[in-house]
Amino acid sequence: MGADILVASEHREGAVVPTTAELVAVARGLAAKSGGAVVVAVAGKSVGKLAGHLASLAQTITVEDPRLEHYSPDGYEQALRAVVDAVDPRVILLAHTATGFDLAPRIAAAWDLPIVTNVVALDVEGRTLVATRKLLNDKVVVQLEVESDRSFVATVRPATYKAAAPLPTPTAVRSIPVTIDTARLGTTFVAYEKPQVQDIDISQADIVVSAGRGIQKKENLPLIEQFAKMLGGVVGASRPLTDLDWLPKTRQVGQSGKTVRPKLYIACGVSGAMQHIAGMKDAGLIIAVNTDPTAPIFEVAHYGFTANVLELLPAVMKELQGA
Ligand SMILES: Cc1cc2nc3c(=O)[nH]c(=O)nc-3n(C[C@H](O)[C@H](O)[C@H](O)COP(=O)(O)OP(=O)(O)OC[C@H]3O[C@@H](n4cnc5c(N)ncnc54)[C@H](O)[C@@H]3O)c2cc1C
Repeated sequence: MGADILVASEHREGAVVPTTAELVAVARGLAAKSGGAVVVAVAGKSVGKLAGHLASLAQTITVEDPRLEHYSPDGYEQALRAVVDAVDPRVILLAHTATGFDLAPRIAAAWDLPIVTNVVALDVEGRTLVATRKLLNDKVVVQLEVESDRSFVATVRPATYKAAAPLPTPTAVRSIPVTIDTARLGTTFVAYEKPQVQDIDISQADIVVSAGRGIQKKENLPLIEQFAKMLGGVVGASRPLTDLDWLPKTRQVGQSGKTVRPKLYIACGVSGAMQHIAGMKDAGLIIAVNTDPTAPIFEVAHYGFTANVLELLPAVMKELQGA
């Protein structure tokens, strides 16, 4: 087993996806410990342009075949296996994306290698890989120590690391031949469907008034909408409201929704779960209205009202109308 750190890059519609540069940042830290080099693999139909971009980050290996034009688990597994055979890396890194967590276990299973997934930090010490993961909605942080004299496979949570800076001079690109076994291609790419943009983009708004489960029923949404309109803002929501289809998913603020940084964020009946706070904590001014004085939203709010939002907002609107 060698000391190099292999990064499996991802690309979509002719461009490298941002997680690849994040993986290179992880790989550089590991390579400094293992004494190896960072090597990025890119598979595709014709990847010259992508390889040119990747070579500004690390040594790059290309695997080209018409059947690799689009991601397929079986095709990309065959391509990555050829690269792993050639590099014999200490660690194989993939992003914890839909593609990465599809492909990583296949690679681990192919050689019976240890695998850690969705990690937020990685270190390698001798024959031990130390992986940090967050569990139970990120409330618990655990460190796993995995010992092996063989390669490790790891998927890294996107947006955990800052993208690696380009190298002062681009490095070499080399190509590895691969024979894709068509009989083993179990899936066929049909089309790439982008989500339809049908709604406003709350991440661009200066004022966001978010409704939480504290508004109690859908019939109370117009109150939030009127208030937001009066302030010249837009309506955001906590996840339960978008799960209930009271508002479209595009309005959801938080870890699995949008990150917003408005000048003013008003949380109406939002408890302040960490997944919600992750999406709004950097707003310029945060005002929270909640009946529960111990609600966690008050920990991030600059101003807080312990009040019934269904009574407070009409009163404030009346004041504003009279002003
Ligand atoms: C993997 C994962 C991802 C998630 N992603 C997100 C995400 O992106 N965004 C998100 O928001 N959540 C997300 N969640 C859900 C999150 O954990 C919370 O369940 C959710 O944020 C709670 O929404 P809420 O504050 O509206 O509801 P609740 O937690 O039910 O809080 C309602 C609040 O309203 C207050 N209240 C009740 N009546 C009134 C009233 N009349 N006036 C004023 N206040 C009142 C209550 O005191 C309470 O604090 C995620 C969860 C998981 C597991």
